[in-house]
Amino acid sequence: MTIIAFIGLGHMGNPMAANLVKAGHTVLGFDLLPDNLAVATANGVTVASSAEFAVADADVVITMLPAGKHVLSVYESVTKAAKQNALFIDSSTIDVDSARKAHEIAHKNGLLSVDAPVSGGIGGAAAGTLTFMVGGSAEAFSKAESVLKHMGAKIVHCGDAGNGQAAKICNNMILGISMIGVSEAFTLAEKLGLSHQALFDVASTSSGQCWSLTTYCPVPGPVATSPANNDYKPGFAAALMLKDLKLAQDAAKSVGAATPLGSHAEAIYAEFGAAGNEGSDFSAIINHLRTTQRK
Ligand code: NAD
Repeated sequence: MTIIAFIGLGHMGNPMAANLVKAGHTVLGFDLLPDNLAVATANGVTVASSAEFAVADADVVITMLPAGKHVLSVYESVTKAAKQNALFIDSSTIDVDSARKAHEIAHKNGLLSVDAPVSGGIGGAAAGTLTFMVGGSAEAFSKAESVLKHMGAKIVHCGDAGNGQAAKICNNMILGISMIGVSEAFTLAEKLGLSHQALFDVASTSSGQCWSLTTYCPVPGPVATSPANNDYKPGFAAALMLKDLKLAQDAAKSVGAATPLGSHAEAIYAEFGAAGNEGSDFSAIINHLRTTQRK
């Protein structure tokens, strides 16, 4: 049995912590929101009165927080309160620079650390089928793997500090671009008089096949479980897609990578969000494209 501190018990953190409890670990949790703490208690997490109290006896500390500034501020305070040799796992999606700073803070305090962002969303968090993309030393990775396996189905060591976040934003840049591509194809098909099902039947078994089409189809009908069949309730909210596309653009600028479609995808999701759609599933971008005038 391992003692695990879990900081950040929101949409993702709570179901992830619940799976650690189910696997037989002692989980001490902390969050700023009382409602989230109540859910954690119901799931068998022992709620601590502060992040520092949560980490004091922990072998492993997991953070699942909104952005880089939250992770760095929590790391600044809790790394000093943690046991020597404790392993720090940050599963939040944050910018690569902040991820590398978080590793530095951990190492300065004699702690092992990995960045381990996830793919798979709330459904994957609840089912324990997340994909973890992990950055850090081989020693830290091998220790992290034994904990992450209780929350995920696939765990990939992507290289040194920050490379988990690099993999995450590259993957999600593909996702944002491909969802716009699939949505544009359905929008064009509608205007050409081609049915949704006919386009799906052809493209899903042809060279247009991709996850945005076959798992997360942006029109109702062809894929029963896609958010399009549920009034575009998330799923993966457009605000989170925009966040990840911005992170990808920040990283691309910092290293001078040309990502013209990533940049355009960010602009399209920014327009969509500004029109009041931040809470819709990101596949609802098709509704935005339908109403966009061709220039
Ligand atoms: P969320 O807003 O539901 O949860 C974040 C939690 O962190 C909140 O409960 C908040 O109160 C807590 N928090 C903030 N600052 C804190 C602090 N100083 N101390 C303790 N708790 C603090 O967000 P989420 O959807 O759970 O996402 C968490 C992370 O996972 C984000 O980085 C997000 O980009 C990433 N992510 C989310 C999804 C998804 O589908 N929701 C999928 C993949 C990755």
